[in-house]
Amino acid sequence: MGGAEPESVDVDRLPGWVTLLRAPNPGPMTLDGTNTWILRVPGEPVAAVIDPGPLDEGHLRRIAEHGPVGHILITHGHHDHVEGAARLAELLGGIPVLAGDALDAGRPLTGNGLEIQVLKTPGHTSDSVCFLVEHEDDRVMFTGDTILGRGTTVVARPDGDLRDYLGSLELLTAYPGVLMLPGHGPARDDTAERAHFYLGHRRERLAQVEAAMAAGADTPAAVVDLVYPDIDPGVRFAAEWSAAAQLDYLRARDRESATGPGRLDRP
Ligand SMILES: [Zn+2]
Repeated sequence: MGGAEPESVDVDRLPGWVTLLRAPNPGPMTLDGTNTWILRVPGEPVAAVIDPGPLDEGHLRRIAEHGPVGHILITHGHHDHVEGAARLAELLGGIPVLAGDALDAGRPLTGNGLEIQVLKTPGHTSDSVCFLVEHEDDRVMFTGDTILGRGTTVVARPDGDLRDYLGSLELLTAYPGVLMLPGHGPARDDTAERAHFYLGHRRERLAQVEAAMAAGADTPAAVVDLVYPDIDPGVRFAAEWSAAAQLDYLRARDRESATGPGRLDRP
């Protein structure tokens, strides 16, 4: 999808305190499946889990084998990340699940030998967060679906918002050289580089949608017909979600520039 992608990181090069368990739910929206991340510093009594994934008993039991776990963290409320949370919490003895408003961007979670900072990164969904985790010299960014390891992500109305999303990508450009561990697809060695790649992709797409609007496309379906003529029917609905978000964004920008002050940021 537009532009060369940087090399992925071999999973063998993950920090020793990070384990990946991939859920058995591959598909067009989930790539190889949801990535469940287990964070355990050697010698510490409890681990943390990021995104339990779907309600799949086998997957959840594999995660629970890595217990004891202190808490379960959620990057956002999509079912392929959170559906198994209640069952996993039960398997682990009734531990807390922290998501959405329960996560405070101003107050890092400490313990387990880790410092976990919450970055509010709305856009893919309104409740999306990233977790910046530090241990000794390691800094790792868990990005959920805000940035994937491969391909691009969806900004779906009404919950997702393209203006918020572009702001979140800008925020993530402040983390050069920080290992990126996404909700789907492979690890990437540079969060900022990947955020810049996504921003470039979004600007390219917005320019294409602007051209389609100028050519008379005024619905998401009409935009998709012009911009993605060869689209796989299995992911057409996702392209229409994205096109709807792009139309909203461009129309809001045009309205604001027509009415004077309070101009929107450049895409
Ligand atoms: Zn998602």
